[in-house]
Amino acid sequence: MASDKSGGINTRLAHMGNDPLSFHGFVNPPVVHGSTVLFPDSATMASRSQKYTYGTRGTPTTDALATAINELEGSAGTIIVPSGLAAVTVPLLAFLSAGDHVLIVDSVYHPTRRFADTMLKGFGVEVEYYDPLVGGEIEALMKPNTRVVFTESPGSNTMEIQDIPAIAAAARARGAIVMMDNTWATPLLFRPLDHGVDVSIHAATKYPGGHSDVLLGTVSANESSWERLHEAFITLGTCAGPNDVYQVLRGLRTMGIRLERHQESAREIARWLEGMPGVARVLHPALPSHPGHAIWKRDFSGASGLFSFVLSGGGEKEAHAFLDALKIFGLGYSWGGFESLAVHVSLADRRVAKGNFPGPVIRLQIGLEDAADLKADIENGLKATGLR
Ligand SMILES: *Cc1c(COP(=O)(O)O)cnc(C)c1O
Repeated sequence: MASDKSGGINTRLAHMGNDPLSFHGFVNPPVVHGSTVLFPDSATMASRSQKYTYGTRGTPTTDALATAINELEGSAGTIIVPSGLAAVTVPLLAFLSAGDHVLIVDSVYHPTRRFADTMLKGFGVEVEYYDPLVGGEIEALMKPNTRVVFTESPGSNTMEIQDIPAIAAAARARGAIVMMDNTWATPLLFRPLDHGVDVSIHAATKYPGGHSDVLLGTVSANESSWERLHEAFITLGTCAGPNDVYQVLRGLRTMGIRLERHQESAREIARWLEGMPGVARVLHPALPSHPGHAIWKRDFSGASGLFSFVLSGGGEKEAHAFLDALKIFGLGYSWGGFESLAVHVSLADRRVAKGNFPGPVIRLQIGLEDAADLKADIENGLKATGLR
């Protein structure tokens, strides 16, 4: 059989989802390219009483990844979709209808906000953004028609830590579904379903893929939300391609050790940055100076490699001077791959989570390079800003 679900996380990651004896002993599952699935006779066809019936509904390749993600999340079921953004939009479409109210955290990943402000509003859903630090007081924002509370912690770019258990308890007491975009932590560092969340969302593009060469999303649900999520997935036809699914399964094997290195280097660089000239603040939840540190420590078992810092002054000119001086860090979106990246973030879309910062915010993805080299690169960038 596949993994026995015992042992340490790296032991389990090395085997989860694999079932060699079902595939002639080959360690990995086949990459099944398939639309049509044949039935042995008309009775089986009419009743669809066999495991696989059509490519959009799952294959041995998608099952292998979904099994592994279910084990990591502790979920009843997982759907696999073509991007992290689809992993956000499919569950929102599954649970929201005209006349419903959705509460979305103000520090949400920007494309999630765009989807809510355009398509959800267009379908007649009432969209409201809430302060990431609201905690249990979200109760006061709940309306009789609040159907979904959408969370993301830490917040995109500004890294606010949400009190997920308190928010989930208040939302559930009013019968709302709680969703969490858990991309930053991966299920290795935070398991949303253990903290009262119903639907856990991941851009598998990031750490699970890990090599900046694939786009994929996963959505995992608890027992009570699974049927509706799965039904929407089948109805929308948002299935992923087999090569991409396979690549993410492959990425999982090394995700534990990659995350250890991402975490170690990012924490070292974040601590070091706090004392550097030209830096006003470092927004990393593992730093005791971070306002969400206590909640992070209570709920998360670690930190990944993405954080932000604030320049001590200036604006776009200084931010661009920093970025243009970098030689190892690439200038690019996304993160979770092996290579370091930097971006000047925009907070123009925020209603409340604006941060009130003295200078521009720079987001760093700390890759697997040597931390000493990354520090030297950042130091050059800071010098180029002329700030002190
Ligand atoms: C990147 C990201 C997504 C979207 O993932 P894609 O695969 O790039 O579409 C969703 N949520 C968060 C928090 C992300 O960082």
